[in-house]
Amino acid sequence: MEADSALLVWLIPLAAIVSWWLGRRSVKQNQAGIQRISPEYFKGLNYLLNEQPDKAIEVFVKMIEVDSETVETHLALGNLFRRRGEVDRAIRIHQNLIARPTLSREERSIALLELGIDYMRSGLFDRAENLFNELIESGMHSVLAYRELLNIYQQEKEWDNAIVTARRLEQSSGQKCNTIIAQFYCEKAEQMLQAGNIKSMKDNLQKALSIDPDCARASMIEADYLFKNGKFKQAIKLYKRIERQDFALMPEVIQPLLTCYKEIDKKEEFIRYLHEVVSKYGNITSILVLAELIAEKEGTAEAVRFITRELKKHPTVKGVDRLIEYALAQAEGTTRDSLVSIKELTARLIKDRSMYKCNNCGFDAKVLHWQCPSCKHWSTIKPVYGLEGE
Ligand SMILES: [Zn+2]
Repeated sequence: MEADSALLVWLIPLAAIVSWWLGRRSVKQNQAGIQRISPEYFKGLNYLLNEQPDKAIEVFVKMIEVDSETVETHLALGNLFRRRGEVDRAIRIHQNLIARPTLSREERSIALLELGIDYMRSGLFDRAENLFNELIESGMHSVLAYRELLNIYQQEKEWDNAIVTARRLEQSSGQKCNTIIAQFYCEKAEQMLQAGNIKSMKDNLQKALSIDPDCARASMIEADYLFKNGKFKQAIKLYKRIERQDFALMPEVIQPLLTCYKEIDKKEEFIRYLHEVVSKYGNITSILVLAELIAEKEGTAEAVRFITRELKKHPTVKGVDRLIEYALAQAEGTTRDSLVSIKELTARLIKDRSMYKCNNCGFDAKVLHWQCPSCKHWSTIKPVYGLEGE
């Protein structure tokens, strides 16, 4: 057994003996000390000494009489075990608590909520779901129960249930859930797309946008679909919509937009659009794509002048890296060797950096996730901006 686990196991006999002793003392103040110790305590201690902590815990937990004084102790212990990943023990403690008929309605509902969370941690989603629904029906802790139910449906990818639960959560908490409900519709849309049901995909995207007009993901799903099916003009319209929905995602759409404009043979129009984007947002992805187009049209010298001017306004490693690349094309001898060394450095800096970051928990990601894998928040992962990013 680990050292801190042992410590925790000893906490229970300590709590048991203190609570038992306090109970006895109030009855018989003057009895001799040794008679006060319960035989159950020795039984538990014996299990503990024989390294059978599970049996020991059972004995000790039963010893602590559940009354208004010790409910808190049980709840705290249950929580401690769960937080340490010992969910089976947490379940036993919470079940033992619920079985007591003396609990108040409030205490019982807290124990039910805790047991529900234990079940979730063990992956027993059906049991957890039943408990949370029981709580909601009883009108106790319904906001917390809706939140937990929502976690279950998200993990199980049951998006219809997630949508209904989020709406009920909105009603009982007064807190808006528009952005996450729109994400659930997008999840459904992606499922439909995979199943080849394009009409249903579009319906779900429409629902996402009607509940959250700023849902950039809905535009992106449909734009990507149109792009893959050669409908470039329509795709351009939707990719461009992302600018006003969530301009932080602009770097995501510049490359597909470039392809669309090339396909419809309107590169000049795209160059004008990119100039606008660069002057408004100055993101390096747009700057580099535009530099490439300038190089094609007016030569490398003009592209270098453009990047240098933009880098003064928005310095980034990626920009410097591209400048070195252009310089390398014309350099010779020792200058070339030095440039190669610097280029290796900038290339490594770019390669080692995560391209995306969660605004809520700081999680670093290599690809764009709509739900943060770490904190589970929706729409919080964005491209990294600043010197080492956009
Ligand atoms: Zn996060």
